[in-house]
Amino acid sequence: MQISDYHVEIIPDAEFRLDGGAMFGVVPRNLWAQVCPPDDQNRIRMNMNCVFVDTGVEKVLIETGIGDKWSAKESLMYGIKRERTLIETLRQRVGVEPEDISIVVNTHLHFDHAGGNTTLNISGTAIPTFPNARYFVSSAELEHAENPTERDRASYLPENWRPVLQAGQFEGKDADYEVVPGLRMETHPGHNRSMQCWRLCLVLQISYRCGRMFVSHGSWASTSIRSRRLNQRKDCCRKQCVRSGCAFFIMSLMWLFAD
Ligand SMILES: [Zn+2]
Repeated sequence: MQISDYHVEIIPDAEFRLDGGAMFGVVPRNLWAQVCPPDDQNRIRMNMNCVFVDTGVEKVLIETGIGDKWSAKESLMYGIKRERTLIETLRQRVGVEPEDISIVVNTHLHFDHAGGNTTLNISGTAIPTFPNARYFVSSAELEHAENPTERDRASYLPENWRPVLQAGQFEGKDADYEVVPGLRMETHPGHNRSMQCWRLCLVLQISYRCGRMFVSHGSWASTSIRSRRLNQRKDCCRKQCVRSGCAFFIMSLMWLFAD
C-alpha cells in the first residue's frame, strides 16, 4: 500500500493459542466463546501481524512476532502454527532481507511481539535477527521487562531483548517519540503500563484510515478498519492538517487479534 511517499505493508507472522479465560479476563466465557470458540484446552486462536514501512530512507519493521526459538514442546503448548518464517514473508511481500531492515520497533516486549527480535545461530545462541537495525522500545518497557511482576513474568523472555542490548542495537525511547517523520509511537497504558501504539500521519493524502485493535490480554477484542472525515479527528494530525490545508492519512493499526 502506498501512502504518500511511504510504502506500508502488513506482514503476517503466525498463529498461536492462549487460554481464552486469560485473554478475556472478567468477560464471561459464554460471551467470548461465541466469537472465539476455544479448543479442547480452552485456548483461543490468535494471529500475529507485523507492519513494514519503507520511507525511501529507512526500512522500518514494527513488531517481530513470536519468533522461531521455540522447542517442539513449547510450540505444541502455544499451538504455534506458521506457514513460513517472518523472514520468508518479508522477502515474499516486500522483497527485503534481514540485513535491509534499518529500524525495528517494539510496542512492548511480550514474547508474541518481540519473539522475532532474535534468532538462534548454528550454535544455538540467540543473536539479533536484523544485524543492521536499530531496535526501538520505550525505556519504561525495557525496565519493566527486566523487572516484571509475577503476573506477567511468563510473557517476558530475556532472550528476545538481551542479545540485542548486548549487541548495542537497542535504544530506549521516551513515552512518546517519532520513529521517522510522520510515524510516532505513543504510550497507552492498559495492556500493560508501558505499551505503545503507533500512529502514521502523512501530509497530502485525500483521506485517512484508522485501523484499531484494542485487545488484549484481558479485554475484549475489536478490530476494525474504517475511513472517516478528517474533521472528526483531534490531536496533532488535525493541527497539521489545518496548517497545510490538506487531508491526511492516519493509520494507527496495532496488533490484529483473532479473526
Ligand atoms: Zn502483550
